[in-house]
Amino acid sequence: MSVSDRVRQEEEGVLYVVATPIGNLDDLSERALQILTKVDLIAAEDTRHTGRLLQHLGLSKQMMALHDHNERGRVEKILALLAEGRQVALVSDAGTPLISDPGYLVVREVRAAGFQVSPIPGACALVAALSVAGLPTDRFLFAGFLPAKRSGRRAALTDLERETATLVFYESPHRIIDLMEDLVSVFGADRECVLGRELTKTFETFYSGGAESVLVDLQDDPNGARGEFVVMVRGAAPEPAGAGVSLDTDKLLGLLIKELPVKKAARIAAEVSGLGKNELYQRALELKRD
Ligand code: SAM
Repeated sequence: MSVSDRVRQEEEGVLYVVATPIGNLDDLSERALQILTKVDLIAAEDTRHTGRLLQHLGLSKQMMALHDHNERGRVEKILALLAEGRQVALVSDAGTPLISDPGYLVVREVRAAGFQVSPIPGACALVAALSVAGLPTDRFLFAGFLPAKRSGRRAALTDLERETATLVFYESPHRIIDLMEDLVSVFGADRECVLGRELTKTFETFYSGGAESVLVDLQDDPNGARGEFVVMVRGAAPEPAGAGVSLDTDKLLGLLIKELPVKKAARIAAEVSGLGKNELYQRALELKRD
């Protein structure tokens, strides 16, 4: 950061989006601590929850609740503070704000108003889980929480069934068994899954294998349906080139016999379609006759 950037930041209001730990309090970064120490206000998903973190850090700060039900109303208050040159931090209960957490509206409006919004990166359950799952991470699709009702959840999974990127979901302990049952029935018993439970906490556990064996492991584990979960699923195998494209062989043959001898037309059509040369030759003769 240049000196002029630093001076500008000190004079102008900035909204800092600060990641907090997902379990282990030592995961709060040095920089997050500095920012939480210097800001004028902390907008927190749950002020009691963040209050406990601040107490652990030995900080006493002004806080304001900002959750899904009051976010729109809080935007004006935050914009007014930023306009006065104040610094505001946005935090959620755990991990990175906006990732299945409140803050989207505030960040969008603050950016639209021309104020700087600066990330203070840190823990994020999906990134932590993916980094150790041993599943492909070059392409992944984070789908957050699936619908709570079984019919909606199965429909959402059916939409994702052919997705080739690694899939990542968040799930609460009381729905984890239901989700795994639906994964087995929609994606099949053998689709590779990795579940990360209670990441960074004392009872951090991983379950991995085919969807059905992971379901059985969870059911067999007395603590299986306790704690918070990240569910990762290997993407579907890519479809072979050309699969799903329906080739109109008659149309192809019809076009080819207008330009080429029948034998040559049948040979090319056989190569393109994978059908038998003799069969296509007979069909080409019929088409020519018609
Ligand atoms: N913003 C958070 C983040 O950056 O990961 C996620 C918040 S979301 C409301 C909470 C969900 O994240 C939990 O239900 C669980 O699926 C996942 N999660 C959070 N902490 C976790 C942990 N320590 N271990 C496993 N999953 C966790």
